[in-house]
Amino acid sequence: MSDKILQSIFEFTKKYQDPENNAPFDEKNPNIQIIEKNGNINISLSVSQQYFEEYKKLGDVFKESLSKIDGVISINIALTSEKKPNESNTQNSRFKINASNIIAIASGKGGVGKSTFAVNLAAAMTTLGKKVGILDADIYGPSVPRMMGISGRPEANDNKKLIPLENYGIKCMSIGFLVDVDTPTIWRGPMVMKALEQMFNGVEWGKLDYLIVDLPPGTGDAQITMAQNSKLSGSIIISTPQDVALIDARKGINMFKKVNVPIIGLVENMSYFICDNCKEKHFIFSTGGAKKEAEKFQIPFLGSLEINKELRIQSDEGRPACIDNPQGDIAKQYLEIAKKIF
Ligand code: ADP
Repeated sequence: MSDKILQSIFEFTKKYQDPENNAPFDEKNPNIQIIEKNGNINISLSVSQQYFEEYKKLGDVFKESLSKIDGVISINIALTSEKKPNESNTQNSRFKINASNIIAIASGKGGVGKSTFAVNLAAAMTTLGKKVGILDADIYGPSVPRMMGISGRPEANDNKKLIPLENYGIKCMSIGFLVDVDTPTIWRGPMVMKALEQMFNGVEWGKLDYLIVDLPPGTGDAQITMAQNSKLSGSIIISTPQDVALIDARKGINMFKKVNVPIIGLVENMSYFICDNCKEKHFIFSTGGAKKEAEKFQIPFLGSLEINKELRIQSDEGRPACIDNPQGDIAKQYLEIAKKIF
């Protein structure tokens, strides 16, 4: 019965054109959602402000006409002005990509586990059903291909765009695919800009829910270029708990604030080590520092990750923990953090 009502409703609505995307209001149109329960119909129209009046009129027409359909008891029309995620990343930005969210992973210092986090966040999100790409922008030490178990060079398609290499269902593009990783890359602003632009506009990414960008450590040209040329949804800053790392993480927080990139949160990596023998937590690099820092800057604290030997081995062997052993302790910690980001 209810399928029949839904079918009759779409039979009617599809005669009308969506003012925003010019598509009919049928099942495939993302701007209309219909829920039917016992003849009570809730229609939600996602409205862009520009066409508000047109949507309002359409809503009135739908309400009036659909109430005459057999079996319909009540009709409720809601106009929601949700921003389409895609718009944010394709309009007014020089680096174009069809990704609903672009998340930059940053750190003040090298060696704190930034790339490991980027890869495992991508893997965790994939496990949770999202379509994810990872862009390794660490021009001074691209390590994502190795951690993803990917080697080789991407090929170009007929449109002269590079096809990202893929493993575990995650599309991957790295500066390491374009330059020899052993060549010291002493790049200045314009070269960094060109390389990053190539990795966005010159790559056939397809449609993604999340693009995870592994930035180089510090607050240099790559960070500024990304902030100014791509519509970053936000940044996540990785730090270890000790003061020397946190001092540099602070610089990263200040930089993102200055360039108006939202900070999704701070993650403390290598927070503690659980000894195989005594099973106690050992706080090798001190404890609680990143949480305090997050409170001080009023940014979310996303969680702590333990020092985990299996993770180090998995990373070296190109098997992200969340895919290799999703039930493992460290994978669970990454998954917890990933869930906070959706
Ligand atoms: P960064 O990107 O900050 O330079 P990496 O992600 O390359 O740091 O990590 C540096 C090293 O530390 C790598 O060998 C990685 O496997 C290891 N590592 C990172 N996080 C952890 C962790 N939580 N437990 C154990 N090893 C880790």
